Amino acid sequence: MANDRFDIAIIGGGIGGATSACHLAPNHSVILLEQENELAYHTTSRSAAVYLEHDGGFVFHRLNRSARQFLDEDHPELDAPLLHPMPVLDVGTEELEDQMREVAARGAELNPAIRFVAGEELTEICPVLRPDVAVIGVLEPTAAALDVMALHQLYVRRARAANAEIRRSSKVTGVTRSNDGFTLATASGQVHAGIVVNAAGAWGDVVAAMAGVQPIGLTPMRRTAFTTSVGQETKGWPLVYAATISHQCYFKPEAGNQLLCSLADETPSPPVDARPEEVDVAMAIENINLLTTLDIRSVNTTWAGLRTFSPDRDPVFGWDDEVEGFFWMVGQGGWGIVSSPMAGQVVANAVAGNSFPSALSDIGLTAEHLNPRR
Ligand SMILES: Cc1cc2nc3c(=O)[nH]c(=O)nc-3n(C[C@H](O)[C@H](O)[C@H](O)COP(=O)(O)OP(=O)(O)OC[C@H]3O[C@@H](n4cnc5c(N)ncnc54)[C@H](O)[C@@H]3O)c2cc1C
Repeated sequence: MANDRFDIAIIGGGIGGATSACHLAPNHSVILLEQENELAYHTTSRSAAVYLEHDGGFVFHRLNRSARQFLDEDHPELDAPLLHPMPVLDVGTEELEDQMREVAARGAELNPAIRFVAGEELTEICPVLRPDVAVIGVLEPTAAALDVMALHQLYVRRARAANAEIRRSSKVTGVTRSNDGFTLATASGQVHAGIVVNAAGAWGDVVAAMAGVQPIGLTPMRRTAFTTSVGQETKGWPLVYAATISHQCYFKPEAGNQLLCSLADETPSPPVDARPEEVDVAMAIENINLLTTLDIRSVNTTWAGLRTFSPDRDPVFGWDDEVEGFFWMVGQGGWGIVSSPMAGQVVANAVAGNSFPSALSDIGLTAEHLNPRR
């Protein structure tokens, strides 16, 4: 059993914990504690792997837009780019026109390529759409598919290269605050750290309560996804997201003429190892078949993950105002992968006592937007 002292203990080995470790390890002694025997076992490995800017509201627009530079860079540790071009097309019927024009206009404030589309252009962009259902839309031509596991691995490799210790099978079961920091009881021994970063995803409030920190009211929401094979070439198709409730769903082209599909469901759940719901798969198939001429009849694989939201659905990256040294890195909802490069910069600047990243403040985002008690 180890008994170790570190500047910082990060709880959680998903993308939030990994980017924190990567950004903190160069200047601090860091340990990352993961309860499972593999990293990224929960939500991080279950995402749709999309880079997108126009969804998620003011805060995620800015986090995601600012993350693009890092995601576009050539990283010497990787043998392939993190992003692969794949437009995203939200579609709907006429009654959504005002809403969709507004979404397009808000997206275009930061990325002028984002625009409102209508009529025949929709079937030109995605030939299997039914023109009577997909009547208008918002197109983000610069969106992309994102290699999530390569990004997670990149963070972990950089953290290890900077001497961070990554401990798996190390569930944190107790956190006690004392004068000089925190003592963490874990499945692999006791750890002492001056700072705790709570990157526990769906378990964020559980970890907070353990440390005597007031929970912020996180809600994990289950989303089921599946893949299916289609009898036609899907290369060049966009990800299509149907916002109309009666057809709600999305589908994304994947290698080998497969589609990754979902009902885009949000079902509140306790923090658990989420399992797919057959009914959500069936409803997604029904909606995709109403929206397109695909005629999906079978699925290849199914899975589910928990997207965890704060009460206002914006992420929470900041110090707790009552328990000194406790940093929240939670509430990433549906955009925790894309926003992770900026999340890492936010925690690194906060711990170093530096000002909020200028890439974010230059476009109107402040630490207050991310403050746990905003
Ligand atoms: C179907 C679906 C589609 C999505 N699509 C996208 C997308 O296209 N783009 C995007 O950016 N995002 C997407 N997301 C959201 C994204 O996956 C999440 O925002 C992100 O993975 C959250 O990362 P996390 O590190 O906070 O959580 P997690 O990956 O769940 O990591 C938290 C970790 O903390 C560990 N932990 C918890 N309690 C303890 C403890 N007591 N001790 C030790 N370890 C503990 C857990 O085991 C877990 O590994 C999607 C999510 C789903 C489900």
